Amino acid sequence: MDTTETITLTTETKKDWTEVHPRKYIIVPQNFIKIGYIHLSAFYGIYLCLTSAKWQTLIFTYICYVVTMIGVTAGAHRLWSHKAYKAKYPLQIILITFLSMANQRLTHWVRDHRTHHKYSDTDADPHNASRGFFFSHIGWMFVKKHPLVKEKGSQISLADLYQNPVVSFQHKYAPYMTKFFCFVLPTTVPIYFWGETLNNSWNINMMRYVLNMHFFFLVNSIAHIWGNKPYNQFIKSVENKFVTMATLGEGFHNFHHTFPHDYKSSELGHYTLNYTTAFIDFFAWVGWAYDLRTASPEGIARKADRDGDGTRKISNVDDYSNSNQTLIQHSECS
Ligand SMILES: [Zn+2]
Ligand SMILES: [Zn+2]
Repeated sequence: MDTTETITLTTETKKDWTEVHPRKYIIVPQNFIKIGYIHLSAFYGIYLCLTSAKWQTLIFTYICYVVTMIGVTAGAHRLWSHKAYKAKYPLQIILITFLSMANQRLTHWVRDHRTHHKYSDTDADPHNASRGFFFSHIGWMFVKKHPLVKEKGSQISLADLYQNPVVSFQHKYAPYMTKFFCFVLPTTVPIYFWGETLNNSWNINMMRYVLNMHFFFLVNSIAHIWGNKPYNQFIKSVENKFVTMATLGEGFHNFHHTFPHDYKSSELGHYTLNYTTAFIDFFAWVGWAYDLRTASPEGIARKADRDGDGTRKISNVDDYSNSNQTLIQHSECS
């Protein structure tokens, strides 16, 4: 099942699904305990940052935050979920390492994200924003998946990922890779290189991990609830500057759901807000990223004229007209 395929979810269909599978909130105790612990540790980490952490630890933690976010945005999201560009193996290895720092198994991330795009804001969407802010932000992690998420998610094709040796390796060794890169390595480096305490290092890294998690979750919650809809007012996803800043460029979410295969995930912002695009462009210059796909300016304008809410800011549109990127046809995936 290709992510470009569109489906029509009529009100009637949604109603039937809801009636067949009522929304139940069945708590998963181990998730509740895990999420509770990492949040307590993260709050303690904030306190330690303000009271006893070495300055090198703070800089190191910020760098870890940025590269982890890049692993999610440039890697799991734009490269592997949407195939918005292609990457040579060295770049793939960098990205999968960064993604492992987010404690994520790529194949699961992509399955959930492709399901999210295909069935946005319905009960088959893992973090269905129709169920409110808390559920779409983090509540969905506390409870058992809705039966439709399992049913529709299991039909999503991941064949392209399993054929990829870098992805297959991470899939096979994810429990070890994620624990090493997300917890062991970021905790050990400050202790070994500048004599940070174990207590500071562990809890401050936990703070970094939780911040990475929450900031990316903003894309699922805030960017599906509060903001404007310049490209398609008939879907829930919106443009939200705060989310863009927090996620290095993923808050142009109305654009993204309308043109999911655009590697910039936006037509706005240049590099000031969209550092993920800057990262991909840098590696395109190096030669490790190629076949960058972008929606045609004409297609974007046409779609915005037809379905947008009239808030498109064309004065700030990036000029890619002379670039050598591959223009893709407009394909909706809402
Ligand atoms: Zn996406
Ligand atoms: Zn979304």
